[in-house]
Amino acid sequence: MSQYDIVIIGSGLGGLESAYILCKEGFKVLVLEKNRQLGGSLQIFVRDKAIFDTGIHYIGGLDEGQNLNQSFKYFDIMDKLHLHKMDMDGFDHISFDGDPIEYKHAQGYDNFVEQLSQQFPKEREVLKNYIKQIQEVCDYFPLYQLKSDDAPILGTKYLDVNARDFIANITTNTKLQNVLAGSNPLYAGDGSKTPLYVHALVVNTYIESSYKCVDGGAQIERLLTKNIKAMGGEIRNYAEVTKIVEKDGIITHVELKDGERIEGKNFISNIHPASTMNILESTKIKKAYSNRLQGLENSTSAFIVDIVLKPNTFEYRNNNYYHFKRNDVWSSMNFTGNSWPDIYCMFVPKSSRSDKYADSMTVLSYMKYDELKEWENTFATIPKQRDSRGQKYEEFKIKRAERLIDEVQKKIPNIRNVIKSYTVSTPLTYRDYIGARDGGLYGIAKDYRDPLRTFISPTTKIPNLFFTGQNLNMHGVLGVTVGAIRTCGVFVGQNYLIEKINKA
Ligand SMILES: Cc1cc2nc3c(=O)[nH]c(=O)nc-3n(C[C@H](O)[C@H](O)[C@H](O)COP(=O)(O)OP(=O)(O)OC[C@H]3O[C@@H](n4cnc5c(N)ncnc54)[C@H](O)[C@@H]3O)c2cc1C
Repeated sequence: MSQYDIVIIGSGLGGLESAYILCKEGFKVLVLEKNRQLGGSLQIFVRDKAIFDTGIHYIGGLDEGQNLNQSFKYFDIMDKLHLHKMDMDGFDHISFDGDPIEYKHAQGYDNFVEQLSQQFPKEREVLKNYIKQIQEVCDYFPLYQLKSDDAPILGTKYLDVNARDFIANITTNTKLQNVLAGSNPLYAGDGSKTPLYVHALVVNTYIESSYKCVDGGAQIERLLTKNIKAMGGEIRNYAEVTKIVEKDGIITHVELKDGERIEGKNFISNIHPASTMNILESTKIKKAYSNRLQGLENSTSAFIVDIVLKPNTFEYRNNNYYHFKRNDVWSSMNFTGNSWPDIYCMFVPKSSRSDKYADSMTVLSYMKYDELKEWENTFATIPKQRDSRGQKYEEFKIKRAERLIDEVQKKIPNIRNVIKSYTVSTPLTYRDYIGARDGGLYGIAKDYRDPLRTFISPTTKIPNLFFTGQNLNMHGVLGVTVGAIRTCGVFVGQNYLIEKINKA
């Protein structure tokens, strides 16, 4: 008899949330993580005493009565999180080259309309209509509001509506169209693909409320881990799963890099479905299913400059910036080589050390994996090996980082005077740390033209193998939490689980 009811591969947010739910329901759970640090994209790192997030810059839906607040109460972490509410009148500032105005996305539906109406006085009714329709789209996704969901996904309205077209139908004012979609790097918005529901669910959660995690998002991982262990769950780091082995139609065990075998009754993969297929040894999975998962396109990757600021030189900003060179926010990921970057996002982390000054800032732009092809056969996760990809790679990083900082300098003229040092992450960094194929930021890219193709079910063709994480429903803290509810719902009943979360 195997010791574990559930073996979870990967300790990303989805893996940890699933572990928590199933421990709470009395299952014996083991989480296996390949890295030293747990949490996947919840991980932080420290340079020159400044803390940097790798994948959580801000979180929505955390006000009392909102969906993530309620979920985090269930996970028993809500009252322990150290959060900082962002600027009510403009948590996201959207700007464009050649236009000095910073357009503001505000918290609260009425306030969102009010603030943008000040910048687009003739568009008040348009903005009211936009907000009404965004809420209507979200209503078609009841799980996101922690309501029971019995409707089959097939019947869901809005899956096949294009986000860019929807916004273009709302207003003919092209500046406003771009402003409304201006935070689309949050979901790697691609005008030719991104479905409306992805735009709606993401912007809605931040309009509800927007918070930064003080000293980084790893606190979510630390609190979840503590709670899982307190309920008897086990979590092992440095435990890379290299084989998932099936016999007579069910998974019997997984094998770790060092050859250790771990048996279990059920297995949940928190890693990319294509990576899961790569390590699955099974005759039960048909080639067509595996090929479908392997063939799904991932969202684009990013090039990130994490900047340590000189002490007390740069005042903390309680908002994020999304800056575009052109008045078209839907195709920025296509810019490579000399035409790069077309866009940058700037996040200023909130440190507990000062309310007045910032310790650091993160500047992110899209980058295609193909730009790093030359170094694709290198691997580096250990800090001391960081230059192991070679001198030419280091030179590439510096050249591109300087180009990105040149762009930021147009907005913040003294930026170079306040930089103490910086660190760069590329698509290869995300590939190696998270195991994200092609370094894709948010997993499988959703496509309105064939919406069901990009939907991943928590169940697989093997009855005791399941998926969770950002590839399931959606990425982001909210999307992954909803995914964990879907996965664990298979074990305990989805509506039962939602009821428990709502009563927490
Ligand atoms: C740059 C960036 C910025 C982001 N900003 C935000 C934001 O501001 N707000 C927000 O809500 N969301 C944001 N996101 C998205 C969010 O961070 C992710 O959607 C979410 O954290 C993904 O969780 P996951 O459960 O899918 O696991 P992942 O984070 O993908 O973790 C998977 C885990 O599995 C481990 N693993 C992989 N292979 C193996 C193996 N073979 N054996 C064992 N372990 C393995 C990995 O090491 C990793 O720990 C951002 C993401 C990125 C990349």
